[in-house]
Formats: sequence, C-alpha cells, structure tokens
Amino acid sequence: MANKVVCPKLLKNLGFHVRRLNSAPSPLSAVPPLSFTGDFNATTVTTPNLVDTVPHINTVPEKNNIINFDDVKELFYGVPTSKLIRSSLTLQMAAIDPMVDMGMWVMNSKLMEMPIFREVMLGFVKNTFYEHFCAGKDLTEVRRTVSKLSDGGLKAMLDYGVEHATNNESCEQSMKAFIQTIESTKSLPQSSTSFVVVKITAICTPRLLKRMSDLLRWEHKDPSFNLPWKQRTLPLFAESSPLYHTWKKPEPLTVEEERDLQLAHERLTKICEKCLEHDVPLLIDAEDTTIQPGIDYMAYSAAIKYHKDDGPLIFGTIQAYLKDAKERMAIAKKAAEKMGVPMGFKLVRGAYMCSERELASRLGFQSPIHDSIEQTHACFNSCAEFMIEEIANGSGAVVLATHNIESGKLAATKAIDMGIKDSEKLQFAQLYGMAEGLTFGLRNAGFQVSKYLPFGPVDQIMHYLMRRAEENRGMLSTSAFDRQLMRKELGRRLKVATS
Ligand SMILES: Cc1cc2nc3c(=O)[nH]c(=O)nc-3n(C[C@H](O)[C@H](O)[C@H](O)COP(=O)(O)OP(=O)(O)OC[C@H]3O[C@@H](n4cnc5c(N)ncnc54)[C@H](O)[C@@H]3O)c2cc1C
Repeated sequence: MANKVVCPKLLKNLGFHVRRLNSAPSPLSAVPPLSFTGDFNATTVTTPNLVDTVPHINTVPEKNNIINFDDVKELFYGVPTSKLIRSSLTLQMAAIDPMVDMGMWVMNSKLMEMPIFREVMLGFVKNTFYEHFCAGKDLTEVRRTVSKLSDGGLKAMLDYGVEHATNNESCEQSMKAFIQTIESTKSLPQSSTSFVVVKITAICTPRLLKRMSDLLRWEHKDPSFNLPWKQRTLPLFAESSPLYHTWKKPEPLTVEEERDLQLAHERLTKICEKCLEHDVPLLIDAEDTTIQPGIDYMAYSAAIKYHKDDGPLIFGTIQAYLKDAKERMAIAKKAAEKMGVPMGFKLVRGAYMCSERELASRLGFQSPIHDSIEQTHACFNSCAEFMIEEIANGSGAVVLATHNIESGKLAATKAIDMGIKDSEKLQFAQLYGMAEGLTFGLRNAGFQVSKYLPFGPVDQIMHYLMRRAEENRGMLSTSAFDRQLMRKELGRRLKVATS
C-alpha cells in the first residue's frame, strides 16, 4: 500500500510546533524490503529477569526475534492498566477522522476566543491528548513523568516547547528556560535524562539564520568569499548538496547582525557550559533547509568546543529524507575525527517534506527530498548502519529517532551483530505517547531508549498536540500497531482478572 503523505490544508497556518516533528502516518505494510547489508540471522533475548518495576531485559538469544512484539505481557510489563486504557482510548479517538476534523476546526475557529468555551476545550485537551503526548506544564510535573519513565527503564529527552524567537529579548527568555531545564536534571533520578533538547531558532532568530545560511552557501560555491564572523566548524555541505536557495551573492552581515550572531553564540555557549557542568548531553533539532546550514554551523562549532573525553556532548540532527544526508553526515563525521572531536548525531527521517518540496518547485529546482519513500527508508537505514559501524570502531554516537518498526529492527540487529547493546553511544528515541510498542520492545531487548518529552502550558504546545492528533488519525495511522498491541494486552489482563 502506498504511504499516506499528508500536507494537511488544516495545518497550513499553524506555527512552528506543527511543522517540526511532523510526519505523515506510515502503515507498517508500506515499509520497503530491508536494506541493511549485514547478516540478519542475528540473535537476541528472552529469559525474564524481573527487577521491581524495571521491566526485564532479555538475555538469551533467539533467532530473528530481536524485538519481541508477540508477548504483550512482557511488552507492557509495568504499565498500569489505567494508563493502558487511557492511552488506548486517546489513540482510538484520534483514529476517528470526523472527530479529528471537528477538533481541528474548533481549535482554529473564533469559538476559541470565547473565554468559557476556551476553558472547556483546553480542559478536554488537557485530560486527553495533552496527558498522552506531553510531559506536563512545568518542571514539577515533568519530574513526575521522568520518574515514572525511569521506573519503567526508559530515559527522557527534555524538550521545552518554545516558538521561534523574533528578537534578542525572546532569544534570552528561551535561553533562560533551556538553562532551567538543564539545571532541573540534577533533581531527577540519576541517569534518567538522556538529553536536553534545544532549537537554535529559539536562541537565534530564523531571519538571522537564513542570512547566515545564504552566506555559508555562497562561500561553498566560491571559497574565496570571506566570512569574517565564521568560527571553526565542520563541513556543512557535500558535493550533492542543493544550493538553489541562494541564487545571488548575498550582502555581508551588517554590524548589527554580526552583533546578534555573537549574542546567539554566547547563548549557546552558556547552554553548553551548563550541560557540561550537569553532565547532560544537548540535542539540537533540525529544521528546514533554508536555515539548516546556519543551525548545523552553530551545532558543529559548539560540538568542537564542548565534548567529553569519552564521547560527544553536543548532537546535531541529520534528516535522512534529504538526498545529500548520508554524504553530509559522513563528511562531517570524518572531519570531526580528523580534529579529534567525538561527533554525535540524532538521525531522523525529517518533518518538513511538504514545505521543502513546495519551495523547490516554486524556485524551479528539483526537490531536495528523496523522490520516493523507499529511498528515504533506505537512506535512514544506511545512515544508521554507518553510525553503528563507526561506534563499533570506537568513534562517535548516534540517537536513532524513529517510530519505524523495520528501521528499529534493522538497527537493533546490526548493533547486536557488531557487539553493541546497552551503550550510551547507541540510543533509540520515540516521541512521548507514540510508538510505545517499539519503545518497550527495544528496551526489553536491552537497548537504551528515550522518550522525547515536550512540556509547557497546554495552550503553548497546542500546535504540537494538533500535529500529533493529525499524525495518529485514521485506521492506518502510526498508532494503529500500538492500538492493536494495547487491546491485546488489555484483553489478556481482563482474562486474568476474571478467571
Ligand atoms: C525523538 C524524535 C526527534 C525528532 N526530531 C526531529 C528533528 O529534529 N527534525 C525533524 O525534521 N524531524 C524530527 N523528528 C520527526 C521525524 O523527522 C519524522 O517526521 C517522524 O519521526 C516520522 O518518521 P519515522 O522515522 O518515525 O518513520 P515513519 O513512521 O516510517 O515515517 C515515514 C514518513 O516519512 C515521510 N517521508 C520522508 N521521505 C519521504 C518521501 N521521499 N516520500 C514520501 N514520504 C516521505 C512521510 O511523511 C512518511 O510517512 C523527530 C522524531 C522523533 C521520534
């Protein structure tokens, strides 16, 4: 069956939180044949070793069954029945198309301007989608969520939900919120936080990032072009990188822009120093290609300055749906190695497919996105394979951020083949409230798995929530597999209770 690629009209006018982390539903059946080159007769895990609330980690290998989805008792071990019922109902609700359509319509309507109506709606959202997809409104609530995850053998990636910054003042506010988030990790259970997440667009305005990206692209076209503000960084482009966004020589940064860039660097420096002090790595999200060279530039400059002796502290993000992803990642990785810098990447498929395709077509260029979903899958799997091999050779780290079951299985198999398992260097991540089956399956197989936890007041992350509802809508949505697993486990528990 063809993959459903959604560029919903409904979401056209929504802000940053809608566009980022957006992905269309992907029925499991749509995933193409596996493309790792390794041997998939690898082995795993099955003997239970129950430890309090921490689910048991399999220890005895079993052929071709790295992630075990068949034993739902094992899969949902430690998940309270009340949570299973609530999650199941919320995901079921999101699968009913007319319900999601109506919810979207109401949320975007003038009705939301009526205080009482707004209160009622926000209350409903809070008790359903918000509870399911968000970690809480503030750090106190987040702490509870993180503790529960930690009890269940999972780690947390703390993502304070902020909008794009518009000026230096909003950049400063975001920086303070990120720093508070990093500081909060000291009061959390030890090793319960795998990362704090930062969006560069919250500490440096997208306008300035676009100017920098244009200048960096021009420098790549013409290496004699001088960028006086440029710090030491890693290669940002590959041979195959598209440069069409910048079709004429950009004006140099003004004195004011250079000063703003300096301030942005200082903000990132403060964040990195806090991360170093609290020994918590930083994950920098990827956004769209108009500004991504600027984001990569800042991420890589920071990664060169701040790293641990035994591994990376700052992780950039590679979007595998981009045709040049693999080449760019390999070049940056190699350059880092030459400098003696341990490099970490988060690998995702990418969330801006519709806007990227639209922009390229408007400018009369070929889309930077792979022409088919199969090519994207192949690129993701190949990048994952590359990084797993690098890790096995003692270099770098990767976070495989995906809900795709086949990519999860492939990477797990490859990792076991290469002798990597419970290692900080290879981590998996899924969004909170999504792909629970994959999360628990990977955890039970002995891998380090995190949930990406957006938090903030309900109205502040409403757009993020609407995107999650959109993503999970329809009977063939990303959550269909999870709903099926949860129903099976609820049925099993009911049987046990009534027998
Ligand atoms: C922890 C975490 C962090 C994330 N951080 C970021 C981030 O920083 N930046 C970012 O951009 N995204 C981020 N994402 C979102 C991610 O990019 C995906 O949108 C989302 O995870 C779905 O991809 P998947 O790997 O889960 O695979 P699947 O569930 O298999 O989804 C595949 C989807 O890929 C899309 N797709 C990609 N290429 C094509 C193509 N050529 N043709 C058709 N469809 C295509 C389609 O929408 C398709 O449904 C993150 C996701 C997670 C889980």
